[in-house]
Parts: sequence; structure tokens; C-alpha cells
Amino acid sequence: MKRERTLYRAILFLLFSFVTLSGFGEEMELQQTLSRLTAKLSWDPLLKTGMLLTEKHRISFTILVEDQTAPFIIDNQYVLYLPAPRYNNGTLYFPSETIAGLEQALRTITTNEQSLYRIAAIVIDPGHGGKDTGAVAEHRINNKKVTLQEKNVTLSVGKQVYDLLLARFPEKRILMTRTGDTYPTLEERVSIANAIPLGEHEAILFISIHANASFNKTARGYEVWYLSPEYRRTLVDSKKFQDSVEVVPIINAMLEEEFTTESILLAKSILGQLDVSLGNKLPSRGLKAEEWFVVRNAKMPSVLVELGFVTNMQDAILMNDSAYLQKFSEALYKGITDFVNNFEKTGGFTTLQ
Ligand SMILES: [Zn+2]
Repeated sequence: MKRERTLYRAILFLLFSFVTLSGFGEEMELQQTLSRLTAKLSWDPLLKTGMLLTEKHRISFTILVEDQTAPFIIDNQYVLYLPAPRYNNGTLYFPSETIAGLEQALRTITTNEQSLYRIAAIVIDPGHGGKDTGAVAEHRINNKKVTLQEKNVTLSVGKQVYDLLLARFPEKRILMTRTGDTYPTLEERVSIANAIPLGEHEAILFISIHANASFNKTARGYEVWYLSPEYRRTLVDSKKFQDSVEVVPIINAMLEEEFTTESILLAKSILGQLDVSLGNKLPSRGLKAEEWFVVRNAKMPSVLVELGFVTNMQDAILMNDSAYLQKFSEALYKGITDFVNNFEKTGGFTTLQ
């Protein structure tokens, strides 16, 4: 990160050396200048130093000698030499070149900072495993008795999503919380993700994959959960989750702090792709968020996908079919990829605000 900044400063310096050499021309009155830069001015007439304050940046400058260049320091980091403002009759006049130079610098800084936002790692969490089978149901499919276990469905989809992401994002860390029939605890799953070192503008995604169960055999369809922060200090009432009881302790082990927006966007992105790929085969139960008591920090956008109900015959047929498991996997992959691309393109969604 530091190396990038140094390089960036060198580029800025070259850029503005050029602007500086282009000489003096027209000038603008103070009010015009401020409205052009959308800035406020703090000015010390004795020291002839000032600060232009925009919404996100501070530009300090000093008039050493009028009609020469003056140093402009942006955010205490970048120094540019531009034609000095003129102080006359108690007001300032800014050369047009200086204003154009500052505008260009602010644009470059914004672009540069946005490009620093990236998803550094993606953690795929196939739910359950080992002694914990997750939901189990028996069905007769094609005249054969089939025992569908959630842990196998989630591992199959998890592995496929992992392989697709690994191929698509070789520069990112793609991790699985389990790769075989083992049983990491919920704490271990979250700590795998939390142990990944991150830079200042980097984020991790945590995607937990599950399949649902219900006493109501007609309950069916996929759904995507995200964590709602408004209620994060409230204890979950598991009675409210008749069809989703298993979600409660899992969500309890994941936390969402300032990542709600990202979690919602990621959940929507995945849900949208499930609609596209599987919407004609099984119903969407939509986006879900409820009142979580979160006991531990998973400092990242986190979502939980329920592929379908193992207890429902139609859903079970799909989850027992490798072609459909591939469709589920590809939909998750596309949803995650769309989110990553949007996140990185918009500088962590900063340009949407
Ligand atoms: Zn589960």
C-alpha cells in the first residue's frame, strides 16, 4: 500500500510540474473559486495562509511571493506547486490554472483511493459436516430410497463455488472452512475468516451454505440471510423461526458491524442469480434478516444461503441431482462475482453515497 502511494505522489508531481510550467493566465474571484471547488475557505490574512475545505479533502496553501508558485498541500500528503493566489483589497483571486490543477488533483486522488478498495479474501463455509449431518430426510426418488444429508449437499456446492472463485480470482485468497466430512465448530469457522490479515481498504466475504428443514413438508425454496445490526444486542427468539431454527445459532456466531450494506448487497446479488438460474424450478423465499444476538465479531459482510428444503420432495429431487447442484453453485458464484466487481469498481460503494 505504501509503495503505491509513493508512486502515486511521483505521478502527481510530474502532472503538476507540467501545470505549473503552463504559466499564468486568467483568474477567478474567491466566491467563484469556492463554488467551483465546492469548498469553504479558512484564511489567515496576516500569515497569508489558507485552507480550502471540501467535503472530503483539505488543501492548505501559503502565498510566499505573489506572481510565483505556491505550495498546495492536499490532505497533508500531496504537495503541488501551482500559480499563487493574489491577495488584494482584502480578498483572494485564484489563477484559473490553479483551480484546474486542484480539481484535477482531487479527481486523481479520489480515483486512486477508490482503486484501493478490494475484496482480499472470500471464505466459503459449507454448513455442518462430520458428526453434524445437518438436516436429514428420506425420500423415494426414481423408485430408490434416498437419504439426503445437508452436510453432503453443502460440501458439494461449497467445493464447486470454491473452484469457480479460485479460477476467477487468482489474486485473492479463497478459503473453505472445511474440504471434507469434518466438523469445524461455528467458532472455528468464523475464526478462519477473522484470522486473515487485511489492508486498510480490504474486505473479506463470508458465505455460509446450508439447506433447510421443516416439519411442514410443503415448505420449500431457497432464501438468503444477512445480519441486521439494529437488533444485534437482542437475543434471538428461536420460536420465531419455525422453518429456520437451525439458522439461529449459526447467525449468532457471525457478526456484522458496519458491513450491513455490503451484506445486503451481497445477499441480493446471490438471490438475484438464484432467481435467474433456479427460479423456474423452486420458489424464492426472499431476503431474510432478523434479530440477532451476535456473540462474536466476524468483521466482514456475511450471508447465509439456504439452498432448499431437504424435507420437501421437489427440493430434495433437485438437491439430489448433480446437474442442479452445479446450477446452485454457478448461481452462488455469479452472485458473489457480481458483488465483488461492483464493490471494487465503486471503491467499496463509496461512489454510491
Ligand atoms: Zn444448516
